Amino acid sequence: MKRDQLQIAMFSIHSSPIGELGTKNTGGMSVYIRELARQLGTRGHCVDIYTRLNGSKHNQIIDLYDNVRVIHLSAGNNGYVHKLALYYYLSDFFRALERFKHQENLHYDLIHSHYWLSGRLGSWVQDRWNLPHLVMFHTLGTVKNIAGVADQEPDLRIATEKKLTRTCQRILAPTEREKDNLITYYKAPSEKIGVAPCGVNLDLFQPMDRAAARQCLGFDDNESIVLYVGRFDPIKGIDRLLEAATHLQDHRRLRLVIIGGDGPDTPEYQNLQKMTRKLGIQNTVTFAGRIEQNHLPPYYSAADVLVVPSYYESFGLVGLESLACGTPVVATEVGAMRSILRDGETGQIVTHANPRSLAKAIEIFITGSGAKKVSADMIRASVLKFGWSNVAAAVIDEYDTLFRQMNYEALDNASAKVSSL
Ligand code: UDP
Repeated sequence: MKRDQLQIAMFSIHSSPIGELGTKNTGGMSVYIRELARQLGTRGHCVDIYTRLNGSKHNQIIDLYDNVRVIHLSAGNNGYVHKLALYYYLSDFFRALERFKHQENLHYDLIHSHYWLSGRLGSWVQDRWNLPHLVMFHTLGTVKNIAGVADQEPDLRIATEKKLTRTCQRILAPTEREKDNLITYYKAPSEKIGVAPCGVNLDLFQPMDRAAARQCLGFDDNESIVLYVGRFDPIKGIDRLLEAATHLQDHRRLRLVIIGGDGPDTPEYQNLQKMTRKLGIQNTVTFAGRIEQNHLPPYYSAADVLVVPSYYESFGLVGLESLACGTPVVATEVGAMRSILRDGETGQIVTHANPRSLAKAIEIFITGSGAKKVSADMIRASVLKFGWSNVAAAVIDEYDTLFRQMNYEALDNASAKVSSL
């Protein structure tokens, strides 16, 4: 059953879709929500994205794009609350949501929730409003724990994720690998899981002349530029990228540009800086800070290679963004990287991801030896199918599957009632 104009309630409680990208809790998920909602809006669907009021700089309701609103509701205080502590404020949020829906006389066709915290909220809403519920986890607690680099994710998260795989009506995973993880670690029913990739804004991320990009950023044309873009989280593996740089010391003109983070006053930033001094590479590394996404394309174009050194990614948007700008990617075997990169052409997957192997792979692209000569346009061509419009089409198919499934269930229930008469 195709529906022309869906009313969609999206939940992204812990991370605002309009938050500052590259900071602690704001990254790929916010980009995903914004871009997907924009595409849904242009197709005539209406999307309300509910998030927690955190600081008072925003109006309660923001008209983000055509047919897309961001709605801020209170939970706990209206300031910073640690992500895990938010769990205990979800009931506050739920009450605020019920009040808001009632006041505004809102009606929805489905719930699309993001991350386990919003999934928990979504499960209450699903029961109370009697709506189908699709969950995207973005990352899975168990898989993060297996990676074993950050603080262990609490049992509460894992139990909640596991329960959600039973109670929601559909799960959307960004890769087949994440689908397998859901089945292996949570025994999620396979038929409930759809797979649709994440995307890239092909209008924003476009190749530009490397020399021109370097000039506009004040980088030297003779340098080899290795780029990292992302949050400063232990799971991202920036530590092993820094170590890899020590194995590239022969390249006198190497520059490692690190983009992202919450600023120089934060422990994460200071630890990384300390590490560069300890490794003796402080003159090789440039911490460029958080950069607005609109200003990222010249950085991707200026670089010889982007590195994704993560221990775990559910997808890895920066990889797509770099390729869309025509710059190859060296990545550990995480997220969608294996299915996106063509080894030795558009990038290189590093299977034994120690710093030395990372360095070897990076070397291929800074020396140009060992990689097939591939133009920026050809690299870009390899990701054209990942435009957000295609992603939205795949997600809408998932919504359709969800509605069909619900109809079957309703029919099954009805026939069970009839046969019990
Ligand atoms: N990003 C940004 N500015 C920064 C750092 C990151 O706009 O300073 C954006 C980047 O363009 C990408 C997203 O944040 O779209 C990070 O997504 P990814 O999937 O790579 O990582 P996640 O945050 O989901 O772990």
